[in-house]
Amino acid sequence: MLSTKDYYKENGISEPVYNYCKDIQSSLLDRFAEIDETAEYNQLKVLSAMRKNHVSEAHFAPTTGYGYDDLGREALEKVYADVFHTEAALVRPVIQCGTHALSIALFGNLRPGDELLSPVGKPYDTLDDIIGINPTPGSLAEYGVKYRQVDLKEDFSFDYEGIKAALNDKTKLVTIQRSKGYATRPTFSVEQIGELIAFIKKCKPDVTVMVDNCYGEFVERIEPSDVGADMVVGSLIKNPGGGLAPVGGYIAGTKKCVDMASYRMTCPGLGGEIGPSLGLNRTFFEGFFLAPTVTASALKGAIFAANIYEKLGFPVIPNATEPRYDIIQAVTLGTPEGLCAFCEGIQAASPVDSHVTPEPWDMPGYNDQVIMAAGTFVSGASIELSADGPMREPYAVYFQGGLTWAHAKYGIMMSLERMYEKGLVKL
Ligand SMILES: *Cc1c(COP(=O)(O)O)cnc(C)c1O
Repeated sequence: MLSTKDYYKENGISEPVYNYCKDIQSSLLDRFAEIDETAEYNQLKVLSAMRKNHVSEAHFAPTTGYGYDDLGREALEKVYADVFHTEAALVRPVIQCGTHALSIALFGNLRPGDELLSPVGKPYDTLDDIIGINPTPGSLAEYGVKYRQVDLKEDFSFDYEGIKAALNDKTKLVTIQRSKGYATRPTFSVEQIGELIAFIKKCKPDVTVMVDNCYGEFVERIEPSDVGADMVVGSLIKNPGGGLAPVGGYIAGTKKCVDMASYRMTCPGLGGEIGPSLGLNRTFFEGFFLAPTVTASALKGAIFAANIYEKLGFPVIPNATEPRYDIIQAVTLGTPEGLCAFCEGIQAASPVDSHVTPEPWDMPGYNDQVIMAAGTFVSGASIELSADGPMREPYAVYFQGGLTWAHAKYGIMMSLERMYEKGLVKL
């Protein structure tokens, strides 16, 4: 039998890279233990919801057509509601992605003449078209919903005075994005979000608060719905799908908010009563069951990478030591060669399409070429190890995911190997 080191060597990892990474890993044992404890807590949370709702084999049976009385779907939605401590939830394959879930929640809960407020600066890019920040057919703006935004202060803190001034008679819904996404601000902790919500509700008690929870689920022991959010919304091909969900999104919140969203998801009158699960229930349950440990693996990968690249002199966000509130890691590589080498390494270490080389391409909707590495089982799933970045200064790569820590580790080692081979780092 080969030693682990020799086995890595056979799989393309040279001795200097192996040794360098081994030392970094040794320095992270305490942080990894902390992450494992959070995963343990969240595993209990999911298990307790599954036990309480008597999840059983009958719930895995597929339904077709209208899908009336789909027992599995109903149990799954109760499990989500219990985990997020909300009255209700929608967890559906008909919700195509996170953007779609956010769109349903917004359109379902806003009416002509209402105002939507983002108190944390500009939301995720794909929301621009939904809100109509750019004139877009079918946007909220076309339906007479106005949008206001209060930017963060220079130090990324909340502009409480500005927020107070922006809240008015017409403000119906406040949207807060937990993760930084691809913005340059830090991700908010759930505690910070709670403080913001408390302030907003003090100014305007009847306002609905929605949190875009993408990439944040199970990173902490509490969720935004534990600190006053009326709705939390996310994608099943990120954290809560546990890597198994092949599609889907969720909306968990008050019964009123979820019902309103359901009339947009299907149509007025039918709401959540219809929707065949088409045999996906088992995967959704099983993915949710795995989600706490999968999220922990992704977090370990992010911290491992931050420590490796920071020590080599590359700026990293978040940095090597700060606390984590989502699974995204940015590394500023500084050169086009560095960005490409990093992505090539991630791709080469993937379980799927390891033999292909990622190339920068003109992705629709982006001003610069983008390079992407994603050897994923579920197309585009960013809970699986994946990396991408725009081909422009400062050549930053955003990377996230890893269904297992061992794979996240190998992917990051391979990225370093490619950088090392090309003389872009010295070890
Ligand atoms: C990924 C993401 C979305 C959109 O999700 P998709 O599934 O890609 O449509 C929205 N907001 C944030 C913060 C995200 O990270």
